[in-house]
Amino acid sequence: MGVKSVFANAAATAVKRSILVFGGSFDPVHMGHLALVQHFAKRLEVDEVRLVPAGQPWQKAQLKATAEQRIKMLELAFDEQLSVPFSIDQQEVERAAAQIPSYTVDTLTNMRSQWGNAQSNEEIALILLIGADQFHNFATWKNWQQIFKLAHIVVAARPGYSLQLDTLPREFAALWQQANGAIEDLKQCSFGKTWLETDLAWDISATRIRDELQQQGQTKETTSLIPRKVLDYLQVHHIYN
Ligand code: ATP
Repeated sequence: MGVKSVFANAAATAVKRSILVFGGSFDPVHMGHLALVQHFAKRLEVDEVRLVPAGQPWQKAQLKATAEQRIKMLELAFDEQLSVPFSIDQQEVERAAAQIPSYTVDTLTNMRSQWGNAQSNEEIALILLIGADQFHNFATWKNWQQIFKLAHIVVAARPGYSLQLDTLPREFAALWQQANGAIEDLKQCSFGKTWLETDLAWDISATRIRDELQQQGQTKETTSLIPRKVLDYLQVHHIYN
């Protein structure tokens, strides 16, 4: 697909509603996730947040917590923590339960199809939020070019992951560069713009939390990285120890 054709249909109509879409394994959800969503919900002035727990991510090892537990942890973590409404979109979990592999492009396509006609789609901006590690993986995702036609893409810096475009596949870097502009652009159209948030550095990862919980139980360090209500839930359900 040529770089030009991706943007040929980009809608220039003013956006009426912005939705922040944040997917992940959330195994478990941690303070980094919460801080990210709080930060971008405010910075991008979105109207709503959709959290999308992954079914079984195709690029990751078997998850420890069940889908039901991860959904519950998300509810507990985000409850009363945002200034805008949030919902948990279970489509990826449902596809996984039906043995259907899940890809972000399908998830966004489904969201767009909920609004039906082109007019309302032009008025709704979807903003896909990912961390810098996924920025590096992006060009391996199924039909990744199509994602530029479905949503804006916002990347959060993460310790240990460079945001240098010259370290990324050339086609992806070119497309990214063409779509990159000012953060205000994300309000001007419903998809196809990109933004790198470079000055974030939350050194928190679910892998490290899982490992520490397994090896040392709840320490001062790990408990500071997990939302309080999620900690209580983990204590009752012993998911990582
Ligand atoms: P794991 O260590 O198991 O890979 P994770 O901490 O990356 O987990 P995920 O649920 O896989 O958590 O992440 C969901 C999304 O949040 C991904 O786009 C990931 O890049 C992003 N993310 C997670 N933690 C951070 C962080 N500390 N800074 C920036 N982005 C993050």
